[in-house]
Amino acid sequence: MKDTQALKDFLQTPRKIVITTHANPDADALGSSLGLHHFLVRLGQEVSTIVPNSYPDFLEWMPGNPLVINYEKNKEKSDELIFSADLLFCLDYSGFGRIKDMKEVAEGTKAKIALVDHHLNPEINPDFNFWDDHAAATAELIYDLIVDYSGKEVIDKGIAECLYAGIMTDTGSFKHPSTTSKIHRMVAELIDLGADVNKVSRLIYDTNSLHRLKFLGHALAEKLKVNEEARIAYFVIGEEDFKDFRLKQGDTEGLVNYALSIKGIVVAAIIIQRENEIKLSFRSIGDFAVNKFAEEYFRGGGHKNASGGMSELSLKETEEKFKKLIEEDILKTHVK
Ligand code: 5GP
Ligand code: MN
Repeated sequence: MKDTQALKDFLQTPRKIVITTHANPDADALGSSLGLHHFLVRLGQEVSTIVPNSYPDFLEWMPGNPLVINYEKNKEKSDELIFSADLLFCLDYSGFGRIKDMKEVAEGTKAKIALVDHHLNPEINPDFNFWDDHAAATAELIYDLIVDYSGKEVIDKGIAECLYAGIMTDTGSFKHPSTTSKIHRMVAELIDLGADVNKVSRLIYDTNSLHRLKFLGHALAEKLKVNEEARIAYFVIGEEDFKDFRLKQGDTEGLVNYALSIKGIVVAAIIIQRENEIKLSFRSIGDFAVNKFAEEYFRGGGHKNASGGMSELSLKETEEKFKKLIEEDILKTHVK
């Protein structure tokens, strides 16, 4: 359901608006947030964008980047903004469990809630609903919202590049099954509206440090574990790898796809330890629903073919738990 008209009525009066997105923001989270931010500013609204924690530096090129408030570094100001907001946008997430320490103040705010997201099983009950799990990216939903609201002419080069970044990354560079003809038409419009696709793709994908490339070689040679019979492949990355290769946030992004690219593999994972936190990412091809697997065993969720979760066990114990459960589940579902 899309509540564009109701939102339009509500915004007839200038409002205090806060845009939020999920922890460890990716290009879709940040691109859709900043795209919407610029649009709302053009409408004459008072807008703030708050992220729960920091994001990788290959996202810092986005127009409006200096406006983004990092909750971890500005708790007091952020709490005040969220508490006194008239409207809170939840972008690219649909459960307050995904915004870390911002959860409490977001749950307590009297602001109306607008949900713009494409993840399954939303937990948030919004006043304005733009949720659609068929969307390839939240940036696609923001594009539709803006076009419905004002017409596409309002989209300038900056907005177009923010939205393009979200769509490009969430479709795996137009390779995932979510890449519909509608997506290609939308991207054609974004190009006509000024998006420089070569620039955006270089800024996101071609800014590797030498350390990161050497780490990629090391991970592929030493860290990739494959069980051909169960058709799984996964990486386990410890804190020492971050130190040895001077890795930064975002440097492990995309690694899991190499595991999934092996012929015959249907489920891939990466288990990463960082600062007393163990994060898991899952990917699958075809029928095996990794969001259900993440939800059931690792307090996570996501999409059928791409999900994530976390673990409080040690790295070794997490690996053992993952291996046992995934092998059992795969055998049970007779994945083809
Ligand atoms: P990634 O592996 O790229 O971090 O995430 C893949 C997908 O799973 C994304 O759509 C993301 O929103 C979702 N996801 C990742 N981590 C978590 C988590 O801890 N909880 C939930 N509910 N979803 C997650
Ligand atoms: Mn997304």
